Amino acid sequence: MKFGGTSVADLDRIRNAAGRVQREVAAGHEVAVVVSAMSGVTNQLVEWCAALSPLHDAREYDAVVATGEQVTSGLMAIALQSLGVEARSWTGWQAGVQTDGAHGKARIASVDGGLLLAAMAAGQVPVVAGFQGLGPEQRITTLGRGGSDTSAVALAAALRADRCDIYTDVDGVYTTDPRITARARKLDKIAYEEMLELASVGAKVLQTRSVELAMKERVRVQVLSSFADVPGTLVVDEDEIVEQAMVSGIAYSRDEAKITLRHVPDRPGVAAAIFGPLSEAQVNVDMIVQNVSADGTTDMTFTVSRTDLPRVRAVLAEHREAIGSNTVLTDPDVAKISVVGVGMRSHAGVANIMFSTLAGKGINIQVISTSEIKVSVLIAAEYTELAVRALHTAYGLDAA
Ligand code: ADP
Ligand code: ASP
Ligand code: MG
Repeated sequence: MKFGGTSVADLDRIRNAAGRVQREVAAGHEVAVVVSAMSGVTNQLVEWCAALSPLHDAREYDAVVATGEQVTSGLMAIALQSLGVEARSWTGWQAGVQTDGAHGKARIASVDGGLLLAAMAAGQVPVVAGFQGLGPEQRITTLGRGGSDTSAVALAAALRADRCDIYTDVDGVYTTDPRITARARKLDKIAYEEMLELASVGAKVLQTRSVELAMKERVRVQVLSSFADVPGTLVVDEDEIVEQAMVSGIAYSRDEAKITLRHVPDRPGVAAAIFGPLSEAQVNVDMIVQNVSADGTTDMTFTVSRTDLPRVRAVLAEHREAIGSNTVLTDPDVAKISVVGVGMRSHAGVANIMFSTLAGKGINIQVISTSEIKVSVLIAAEYTELAVRALHTAYGLDAA
């Protein structure tokens, strides 16, 4: 059972979550709990690091931001104990979560569930601090924003759990973020691949890596509400879904920034000169467009996560000569809108519906990218809601 930030936002909610754990224990289940930091705490910790230094040491960032989850694991253990449930808090490293050394966005390398299994066999409910692990140099690492989902799935796999229940502030996965439109519909089931794609393009309900891991380790994941007693959404294999819509979901991400390098020489090696140093600096580049040009130079436009922008600027400045461009334009006021569905494999015209719907609303498309089951466009951030709502209607997803 994993409880997200809003589900443990204050002491009453921690009591409420503890009550749910108590019910499962009373029903005879063996339960391991994973908790996030109390809502807002991680943001505050991140802000403090950035305020001291925008290009702060990622190891120390991890030392700071990992503390949020430790607080909740202790509080949850206390809440459980006061309900008569034998419980004990565990940090990520105590629970055997080993990661690689990519501080700030580490990947879980292995989980040794031995100690937890022994505690559970002795009747204890372990309450594990999500989002954190131990790197190769014995330093605390964190798994990237939203990473407690991944902690939960990794533990579920290591403990060979029957299910991994992700308790959150919505009662399941919807056709789009229910905060954007009241017409969003709850899905009873969603295919791993669709959930993976939706998460990777911005649907924050599950962290992308948690879905990747669930798919690989065959973990049954359910997303459900920690406030209402209603069935949630099950993440399942594609063939368990009978009717395949053309588009299953729409996601948006405001966490984007667009960078344009003007007049880079149009010759072999230029893309490598730009993107090589960025990848060495651990920057993930998402969409890329390169224009043709007549005068031997070209414009290269790409997107990165907005939080990486200071680092991108620094890297581009450092490699200015090798890249051969003096003009770097950055635009943080962009959003990426994506439509996702395995049904795209068998339906034609999906992208065109998107383009004509946006055109109908007068929204300019700046960059386009596609995959087998996804079409994404970059637009001005101010049109995010308008675009999502219009597309939700255009693809026939609106609730009746
Ligand atoms: P937690 O703190 O529990 O991890 P998150 O804020 O990370 O919760 O994720 C839940 C939020 O994800 C919801 O409040 C909702 O606004 C957002 N969300 C985005 N896309 C979707 C979607 N397709 N279905 C459900 N929720 C979504
Ligand atoms: N507390 C962390 C975050 O806000 C991890 C999580 O909530 O999953 O990103
Ligand atoms: Mg989350």
